[in-house]
Amino acid sequence: MTGTVEKHVFQAEVNEVLSLVVNSLYSHREVFLRELISNAADAIDQLNFRALTDHGLLAEDKELRIELIRDEQAGTLTIRDNGIGMTRDELIEHLGTIARSGSKKLMQSLSAEQKKDLSLIGQFGVGFYSAFLVADTVTVTTRKAGSDETWIWESQAKGDFEIRAGERATRGTDIVLHLKEDAKEYVQEWPVRDVVRKYSDFVRWPIRMQTEHGEGDDKKLEWQTLNSARALWSRPKSEVTDEQYEEFYKSTSHDWQAPLGWTHFKVEGTHELTGLLYVPSKAPFDLVDKRHSGVRLFVKRVFIMDDAQEIVPEWLRFVRGIVDSEDLPLNVSREILQKDATTRFIKKQVVGKTLSLLEELAAEGETEREVDGEKQKVRRYETFWTEFGRMLKEGVYHDFESRDRLAGLLRFRSSHDDGWHSFADYVGRMQAEQKAIYYVAADSLATAKSSPHIEALEKRGFEVLLMTDSIDEWVVDALREFDGKQLVSAAKGALDLPETEEEKQHKEELQKELKPVLERAQKVLDEDVKEVRVTDRLTDSPSCLVNDGLGMSARQERVLREAGHDVPKQKRVLELNPEHPVVKRLAALTDEGQFAEWTQLLHDQALLAEGALPSDPAAFARRVAKLMSKA
Ligand code: ADP
Repeated sequence: MTGTVEKHVFQAEVNEVLSLVVNSLYSHREVFLRELISNAADAIDQLNFRALTDHGLLAEDKELRIELIRDEQAGTLTIRDNGIGMTRDELIEHLGTIARSGSKKLMQSLSAEQKKDLSLIGQFGVGFYSAFLVADTVTVTTRKAGSDETWIWESQAKGDFEIRAGERATRGTDIVLHLKEDAKEYVQEWPVRDVVRKYSDFVRWPIRMQTEHGEGDDKKLEWQTLNSARALWSRPKSEVTDEQYEEFYKSTSHDWQAPLGWTHFKVEGTHELTGLLYVPSKAPFDLVDKRHSGVRLFVKRVFIMDDAQEIVPEWLRFVRGIVDSEDLPLNVSREILQKDATTRFIKKQVVGKTLSLLEELAAEGETEREVDGEKQKVRRYETFWTEFGRMLKEGVYHDFESRDRLAGLLRFRSSHDDGWHSFADYVGRMQAEQKAIYYVAADSLATAKSSPHIEALEKRGFEVLLMTDSIDEWVVDALREFDGKQLVSAAKGALDLPETEEEKQHKEELQKELKPVLERAQKVLDEDVKEVRVTDRLTDSPSCLVNDGLGMSARQERVLREAGHDVPKQKRVLELNPEHPVVKRLAALTDEGQFAEWTQLLHDQALLAEGALPSDPAAFARRVAKLMSKA
């Protein structure tokens, strides 16, 4: 095999990510070093973890480290690690395709115009391809731990890469950057030192480089460790600057943007652990992918696993960072984690500390922050809510223990004003005679706002929460109440509005008076509705449809049906507004044919008003046309 050179083309999406990285980060080229050092540190972490059980692995080269080798003459900078290395197949797979199927799908779905949008880079992470920010040719020479084969990967980022056999004395990886003309400064000592100090000081493994010592003729190169090589999270909070926290986040998450916030905590007592957890500023496009977790597990500073799903509930999958346990055994596996009682303890801490962080953000007012390179006044919790609010709703649904705290963190639109509102805000504004928290659910804010169901509530000055997310109604069903106040749908059951004796009497009289009309209408609509009754819900509209009792709403049924579930259709209740002129005229109609047409129209109008379609839209249109031609 030696001597043969294979050409491989990059997966199409790799080319796109490559050009995105190179174009969007041009003015921040120095991040390449952070990314490559971070990959090297990960490779050492993995080797170190495997060596816990396979002692032979370390033997040939015990001192784990990253080396930066500058070659002024050749114009190259090499990032060398003695970590896990890659096999031939891994080289092709990891450095030739986009591993995460979500990233690939997103890239495929973007238009040419969208691909030029540089802020997209945050969606992909930076990673290995940032090498091409400073290099026109990149050569990767790697030998997998435990193997005696060395493989070379080389590319000019012009759509393809080469694979050939090579030589390397021991395990590990060399990334050789043949520096571009305008990046030649990285063969010099100081630019490299500066970048390491700025971005990678907290990398857990020593980063070594040959530096100049002595004067004049005595000048010689000596190996020196550039970083402090102490895990960032094991330092006291007071010794870590905000910049360092942010850099640590960027290098471990490969996110391009600063995090929205973080919590650094130590738990002592029966169990001991340290955590450093971050909330990103922007949701990744594949957030819905439930398998992913962004938290790494360490035991006594030794890396154990990425993506530690066992210690993070699914609804917190947006959280990034690390947890370092003093109690778990170093040889802990996913199977052990699933059974170990310590896991439950750790998970509880992760949930508790993250909720505290979110509560702090929620309590905070406006702060000045850098957004896309500019200082802006923002409310961090609102940013969080628009990006990740849905995850908290999932939490309400799935995590019974956290439900109360989560309820306090929910935000909704409201009839009060255009902002986001908590249940507590709502309760604080409730009218003295108001008993419940009212909400209405619809597909859009506009439909919710003009929903007939809320007419009477608004007339009384009762605020209504406007819910447009398809899972909102399930969230409310799970909560049932907040602060002792029931959560009541404006479109379910009876609204039970406070009324005077006089109003009550008036309603009963109308009900009696209209009884024959209601019975006639019921006959016409027998297939679609289970009851036609008089309502006090409406002021301006003639009719609306409501659900009786606590069953699913029509919208919930529709959401489930759209998701492919087989849901039987429940009959609903048609409510008529007895004060409305149309209803009064309906009552006076003697021609049964005409009465039937009008009743159908009132039913279909009620459907349209809530954003649904009549079951026979053509018949509806014909009836309207007929009415208009008579007018
Ligand atoms: P990410 O690190 O986010 O997965 P990268 O593009 O930076 O994405 O790297 C892709 C993959 O290539 C890594 O996940 C890792 O498997 C492999 N890799 C990169 N650098 C090294 C290295 N120095 N040693 C071993 N494997 C590496």
